[in-house]
Amino acid sequence: MSEKVDLFVIGAGSGGVRAARIASGYGARVMVAEEYRVGGTCVIRGCVPKKLLVYASRFADEFEDAAGYGWTLSEPKFDWPTLIANKDREIARLEAAYTANLDRAKVKIVKSRAVMLDPNTIRLATTGETVHAKHILIATGATPHLGGDIPGIGYVISSNEAFHLPQLPKRILIQGGGYIALEFATIFNGLGTEVTVVYRGENILRGFDDEVRTHLRGELEKRGIRILTKQVVVRMEKLDHELRVVLSEHEDVAVDQAMFATGRKPNIEHIGLEAAGVALGQTGGIAVNEFSQSSVPNIYAIGDVTNRVNLTPVAIREGHAFADTVYGGKPTPVNHSDVPTAVFSEPEVGVVGLTEAEACRALAKVDIYKSTFRPLKATLAGRDTRTFMKLVVDGHTDRVVGCHIVGPEAGEMIQLIGVAVKMKATKADFDATMAVHPTAAEELVTMREKSATHVRQAAE
Ligand SMILES: Cc1cc2nc3c(=O)[nH]c(=O)nc-3n(C[C@H](O)[C@H](O)[C@H](O)COP(=O)(O)OP(=O)(O)OC[C@H]3O[C@@H](n4cnc5c(N)ncnc54)[C@H](O)[C@@H]3O)c2cc1C
Repeated sequence: MSEKVDLFVIGAGSGGVRAARIASGYGARVMVAEEYRVGGTCVIRGCVPKKLLVYASRFADEFEDAAGYGWTLSEPKFDWPTLIANKDREIARLEAAYTANLDRAKVKIVKSRAVMLDPNTIRLATTGETVHAKHILIATGATPHLGGDIPGIGYVISSNEAFHLPQLPKRILIQGGGYIALEFATIFNGLGTEVTVVYRGENILRGFDDEVRTHLRGELEKRGIRILTKQVVVRMEKLDHELRVVLSEHEDVAVDQAMFATGRKPNIEHIGLEAAGVALGQTGGIAVNEFSQSSVPNIYAIGDVTNRVNLTPVAIREGHAFADTVYGGKPTPVNHSDVPTAVFSEPEVGVVGLTEAEACRALAKVDIYKSTFRPLKATLAGRDTRTFMKLVVDGHTDRVVGCHIVGPEAGEMIQLIGVAVKMKATKADFDATMAVHPTAAEELVTMREKSATHVRQAAE
C-alpha cells in the first residue's frame, strides 16, 4: 500500500526546502525527495561554494595592494587542494544544517529520485515504492547545458565539475559570456590561471546595461583575462600534455582545461510531466501562473524548473508563497519585477531595475546620471581600476527605475538600493539622502548632472 501525504516536494533545493518547511508549519504532512544532496544547486554547487572560491581568489589583489600601504610580505603561496577540502567541509556542514532544519520541521526526507506516475502518485526510484499526494510541488531546478555535440565535448567540464578539479589548471578556456562564466573567469584569474573567455555574442553579459557590459569587459581585460567574442569553440583535441581548442575564427588555443558555462536547462526530463499532464511554457520550463500553479490544478512548480528568474532568493520566495497560498490560506502571488542581482566577478556588478535601453523602450522620457571614478583604495595601491555607476530615471515621474554598478561591493550596495527602487524612490529622494563619506556608495546620492536625456519622439 502506498504512503499518503498532503504535499510531495520533488527536489530539496532552495525552493523545495523552503516550501516543505513552511507547508509543514501550517500542519501539512510533507515528504520531500532529493536524488543528490539536500540543499540543492545553490548550497552544494552554486552560489555558496562559488562565493567561497571568489573570496579565495580576491586575496591576490589584497597581497599586491598591501605594498602601497606600507606592508612587506613574503611571497604568498596558494594551495588548491586545501581550498577545495575546506570548501567541501563547509558545504557538508551546510547540507547537515539543511537536513536538520527539515527534520525539525517534521518533513520526511527520502534520498531518491522521484517520478510522477499521474497527478497524485509519485514513484520513488530507489525502492520502487509509490506515494499518494494531494499536492505535488516540482522544485527540480536546472542543469548545465553544454550546447551541441562537437568533437571533443567529452573533455569539457561544467561548473559542477569546476568545484572539484583535482588541481588548479595553469591555463583554462571558458566558453560563455554570462555571470557563471565570468565569475569562474575571475576566480581562476585571481588564483593565477591564464584565462581565455570565448563568447559567441557581440559582448559579454547579454541582457545587462550596455555600459555595464563594456565597462566590465575593460576591467576584466585589464586583469589579463583574454576575451574573444563573436566566435565559438568548434572542436577540441587531446594532445600529450594539453587540450587544443579550435575556434570558429580559426584561432587555436592550447589549455589544460576547457569549461563551458553556456546556459542551464530546466530539469524537466524523466520526471513524469507527460504522465501527470503538466504543460511546458515558451521558455522551456514548466508553465505556471502567478501562484506557481501548473496546468494541472494540484501540481505546482517553483524555482529554476519554471525558468522565470533563475536566482536562489526568487526560488525561496516562490516556495514560501506557494505554501502560504495552498496551506496558509493567504493567496500570495510573486512579483518578479525589480529583482536586484549581482555578478561576483572582479570587479563586482550589482544591478536592479531597467537598463538604459529597456527604459528608453518603456518610458517617454528617460534621464541618465552616471559616474566613473577611481576607488580610493586603488590610489595608494596603484591599481588601475575604475568604478562605474549609473542611475536610470523616469524623466516624467522622477522615479529611479534602474541602478547599475560595477565596482567593489556592488552586490552589497545593490541589495540596499533595491529597497529604494522597490519603494519607488525618486531621484529627489536620492538627492535628499545625506552622503556617507568617504565611500563609493555616496556617489549614488551625489550625482547632480544628467549625462543624457532620451525623449521618445512619438510620445512628445
Ligand atoms: C555556479 C552557479 C552559481 C550560482 N550563483 C548564484 C548566486 O550567486 N546567486 C543566486 O541567487 N543564484 C545563483 N545561482 C542559481 C541558483 O543556484 C538557483 O537559482 C537555485 O539553486 C534554484 O533553486 P531551485 O530550488 O529551483 O533548484 P535547485 O537548488 O537546483 O534544487 C533542485 C534539486 O532537485 C533535485 N532533483 C532534480 N530532479 C529530481 C528528481 N526527479 N527527484 C529528486 N530530486 C531531484 C536536484 O538534485 C536538486 O538538489 C547559481 C547557480 C550556479 C550553477
